Amino acid sequence: MLNRSNYLNAFLELFYPRLCLVCGDKLIATETYLCLKCQLHLPRTNFHNEPDNPMEQLFYGRLPIERACAYFDFKKGSPYQKILHQLKYRGLKQLGEYMGAQFALEIQDTKWIQSVDFLCPVPLHPRKERKRGYNQSYHLAKGLSDKLGIPVEQEALIRKKFSSTQTKKGRYERWENVETIFELRHPERFEGKHLLLIDDVVTTGATLEACGATILRDCSAKISILTLAIA
Ligand SMILES: [Zn+2]
Repeated sequence: MLNRSNYLNAFLELFYPRLCLVCGDKLIATETYLCLKCQLHLPRTNFHNEPDNPMEQLFYGRLPIERACAYFDFKKGSPYQKILHQLKYRGLKQLGEYMGAQFALEIQDTKWIQSVDFLCPVPLHPRKERKRGYNQSYHLAKGLSDKLGIPVEQEALIRKKFSSTQTKKGRYERWENVETIFELRHPERFEGKHLLLIDDVVTTGATLEACGATILRDCSAKISILTLAIA
């Protein structure tokens, strides 16, 4: 039955049809952000079911982690890259929650996911967050949290240095970053816990490495990593 707001939506759709972020086709009423076809063809990594997957190998010798997984992978120019672009630069923070919830439904029965105590979004520098208006990793974590029932912890870990980790930095500079970028405010909160670090995308892994190393320097926690995408 159509109520008044359905009528209004139907009317608005005539002039402003909602489009699939990936292929640009018109969405039908039951679809959100992605059409069913693009949702089905999302290049899933299935890393959550694959121990020693390439994402875990990325951190070998750099950061001791339990497990790592990413929802999908993309190459430069892939239409799925638009999801990240919209989430990060076009203000579509609800897309983070939507994608987080979608991923949660696919990983909720995974044993190691069920052992996680806290979801920890990688913090942005406060100045950067003010400029963007939100932290995309937080919204991703919130979508995951709503479905997994695991709390988001976003107070303990803070980012104190404005510059982001650069992709071409050497090992020494990376270690320097570990000392200066992040700070753990309440290490006792994480003592003996299993933390899932959340970020939108992993490329070199330098940011997540610095984040994880800061935590492990100050407390004995277990760390796993989850991102929306792996480049
Ligand atoms: Zn589509």
